[in-house]
Amino acid sequence: METYQTLLKQITPETGTSREVLDPATGEVVGSAPVQGIPELEQAIDRAVAAQPAWAARSHEERSAILNRVADAIDASSEALVELLSREQGKPLNGPNARFEVGACSAWLRSTAAIPMPVEVVIDDGESYAELHYRPVGVVGVITPWNWPMMIAIWQIAPALRMGNTVVAKPSEYTTLSGLALIEVMNSVLPDGVLTAVVGAGDVGAALSAHPAFGKIMFTGSTATGKRIIEASAGNVTRLTLELGGNDAGIVLPDVDPQAIAEDLFWGAFINTGQTCAALKRLYVHDDVYDAVCEALTAVASATPMGVGLDEANVLGPLQNRMQWDVVDRLVEEAKAGGGRVLLGGDPDREAIGNFYPTTLVADLDPQNPLVIEEQFGPALPIVRYTDLEEAIALANGLDVGLGASVWSADAAAARAVAARIQAGTVWINSHGGVHPMIPFGGVKSSGYGLEFGSAGLKSVSLPQVING
Ligand code: ADP
Repeated sequence: METYQTLLKQITPETGTSREVLDPATGEVVGSAPVQGIPELEQAIDRAVAAQPAWAARSHEERSAILNRVADAIDASSEALVELLSREQGKPLNGPNARFEVGACSAWLRSTAAIPMPVEVVIDDGESYAELHYRPVGVVGVITPWNWPMMIAIWQIAPALRMGNTVVAKPSEYTTLSGLALIEVMNSVLPDGVLTAVVGAGDVGAALSAHPAFGKIMFTGSTATGKRIIEASAGNVTRLTLELGGNDAGIVLPDVDPQAIAEDLFWGAFINTGQTCAALKRLYVHDDVYDAVCEALTAVASATPMGVGLDEANVLGPLQNRMQWDVVDRLVEEAKAGGGRVLLGGDPDREAIGNFYPTTLVADLDPQNPLVIEEQFGPALPIVRYTDLEEAIALANGLDVGLGASVWSADAAAARAVAARIQAGTVWINSHGGVHPMIPFGGVKSSGYGLEFGSAGLKSVSLPQVING
C-alpha cells in the first residue's frame, strides 16, 4: 500500500531547484517542492497541445471509463493523499477535512463521468432543424487556491477532461505538494500529456492566463487575482470560469429552534476552520432568538476540538499560512475595538509555533464593523442582531460579493421568499455551504461568473456548436 512517504518521494525533484515546505501546525519540514517557472509552463503547454487531438478523439464513454479508473487510483492511495494533505494544508484527518476532501475527489470524478451529454435538438418542427453540440475547447488552464487544494483542482480538471480537453494545472504555491501528489496519482492512469502540473506563484499564473494556447481558464481564488485574469484574457478572448471571494451572509428568522440549528450553523461557518469560499462568514440573528442562538453556538464551538491535524481527535486545525492568520487576528482586534462582545476565543497565543487561531465568536457587532464586511477566511464568526427583516436583507445584499448565503427558518415557504431576494449564486435553507457534483455552483457580483458542476459545468468547458440543417 502506498504511504505518504512513498508518494512524497515520487513528487520530490531529483534535480533542479527545490524549496522546503513546512507544516503549518508544527513548523516541521513536510518535504521539498520543485521550483519551476516559465520554461516548465511552456513545456507543459506543448505536451497538452500535442496530447489533445487523441484525447478528444476518444468517445465520451471511453473518457468516462478512464475517469472512473482515475477515481479508483485515488481511492487506492487515499490515506497517503490524506496524510500529505493534512501535513501541508494543516486540515485535520477527520470532520469535513482531509479524508472528506480526498473522498470528494473520487466521488466527483465518478459523478462527472456519469453525466449524460446528449446532442440537443433545439428545433425540429418540419421547417427548421438544428442541433447543439458541445465540442472540446482544446487546452484548459486550471489555477487553484490553498484551502481545498485537491478538491477544487478536481472540480476543474474532471469536467475539462471529460469533455475532451487536456489540462495544465497550477496548484497554489502554498499547497504545491498536495496539488502535485493528486496529479501524480491521476497520471498513473491518464494517457501521457493529458494532465500536466506546473508549479509556481503569481508570475506563473499570470503567464498561464495570458497564454494564447488556452481556450479556457478555470480559476478559484481572490477577486483581485480574478480581475487580473479577466484583463489577461482580453488579448486572446479566453473563456473564463471565475469562482472568487465571498462573504456569505446567514439570516436566522425568529421561528427557529436555536438548539436544533446550532450544529449546522457552526459547521456552515467553521468548515475547514473557516477557510472556505462559500462558508457562512456573517450571521444576522433576529432579536427574539438572538441570545439563545449565541448560547447554543457557543456550546457547540467550545466543545469542538482544534489542534494538530494528524491527531484523530481534532476536527479544527491551524490556518494554512501566516498571511491568513494575520488577517483573522487584525479583524478580531477591530471587532473588539468596535465594541464587539467576545463569546469565545479572540485570545490567540502570538508566540506559538503553529498557525492556530482559537475558535472565535463575536456578538453585538455593528453591521459595518470590518469583521462583518471584510472576508476573514478563518475561525472567527461575527454575529449581528436585527429586528427588521428588511434591514437584514439589505445588510446581506450590501456588499459587492455574492457567492452563497443561507436562510434559517422552521417555515420553508418563508425561508424561500427571503432566499429569492438575496443576491447570491446559491442560497441554502437551514444549512450552509454544501456542494454536490450535480448541482450547479457559481457566484454573482464580484464573486465571479460561470457555473461549475453538473451538465452546466460540462458545457462551460466546451465550445457550443450549432449544426443547422
Ligand atoms: P488565495 O489567497 O485565495 O490563494 P490568490 O488569488 O492569491 O488567492 O491565489 C489563487 C491562485 O492564483 C494561486 O494559485 C496563485 O498562485 C494564483 N495567482 C496569483 N496571482 C496570479 C495572477 N496574476 N494571475 C494568475 N494567477 C495568479
